[in-house]
Amino acid sequence: MPLQIVRNDITKIKCDAIVNAANSSLLGGGGVDGAIHKAAGKGLLLECIKLGGCKVGQAKITGAYKLPCRYVIHTVGPKWKGGENGEKEALESCYREGLKLAAENDCESVAFPLISSGVYGYPKARALKVAVDIITEFLIDHDMLVYIVIFDKDSFEIGEKLFNNIASYIDNKYVDDNFEFNRTWADNMGESKILTTAAILYPGIEKSDEALAPAFDTGSLKDEVDNIDESFSQMLLRKIDEKGITDSACYKKANVDRKLFSKIRGDIYYHPSKATALAFAIALELSLEETEELLLKAGFALSHSSKFDIIIEYFITHKNYNIFEINEALFAFDQALLGS
Ligand code: ADP
Repeated sequence: MPLQIVRNDITKIKCDAIVNAANSSLLGGGGVDGAIHKAAGKGLLLECIKLGGCKVGQAKITGAYKLPCRYVIHTVGPKWKGGENGEKEALESCYREGLKLAAENDCESVAFPLISSGVYGYPKARALKVAVDIITEFLIDHDMLVYIVIFDKDSFEIGEKLFNNIASYIDNKYVDDNFEFNRTWADNMGESKILTTAAILYPGIEKSDEALAPAFDTGSLKDEVDNIDESFSQMLLRKIDEKGITDSACYKKANVDRKLFSKIRGDIYYHPSKATALAFAIALELSLEETEELLLKAGFALSHSSKFDIIIEYFITHKNYNIFEINEALFAFDQALLGS
């Protein structure tokens, strides 16, 4: 997945580069800076001394010493002074410059903390939005795996209004409606297919029962197998054509990496995970009904017994197809994220 929001200690992330929210001296400090220097060891400080500091919004790169990555990219975030003093532009520049250095040094993966959102006081939700916006923009023409690492989830919040709206949507829908679910499944399968299944599962069933006759019609079973329905991969490619978008626009919008998309493209029987199938439904801006149809091709359904599914449903019914906003909401509700 090209952009992932994870909850972790950034010093534990195994990737090509981690980004340090440093101060302009680059000589170490508190928060994530202190944690990175402590885990990297003295060699990092000695190399930083030679760099002669760094300006707000800029970035410099060093080795990673004892850290499980190759590089540390040091950037200096702005101090929050109410939001009218160029803080946003400076923070955007931190992400742009950090990503640029990562690309110039052939990094395939890079992890960012929420720069400026600690001691420097940038409101966390706004800091996250800047991070997501700039990283998303960068990923349009770069293949890289980028992590945003959230350390203290307790203080992490998506917009309060959105959070409350989703929470009440979940409350309204989060019911044990297995009955509904089975009915939907039955409707989707179509009666004759269910009977066919019944005949296979329960060979003792009376063939003389007229209602069950189709179940024992082996001719029709063979026909059905021969005329197997359109697969997930075929439906996906058809829908991409129908929407008139390119493959790459689709997998990028789905937050799915190119390799996985090629696999799906090359194998008509490819079985994606539910998160991947849903990510494509979001990228294609499918309605709820079309989403169910695509999911079914991969053997899945949406259920009101699952918070994850209800959150997805919330976004689809509100026609919000921004996968990164959806992932922020899923993260806030402790759910798995969409994508590959
Ligand atoms: P700044 O001075 O740029 O605000 P801080 O280090 O004070 O930098 O905080 C930046 C963000 O990093 C905060 O959201 C803080 O919770 C987070 N943070 C602190 N320690 C770690 C860590 N070990 N891994 C990842 N993030 C961390």
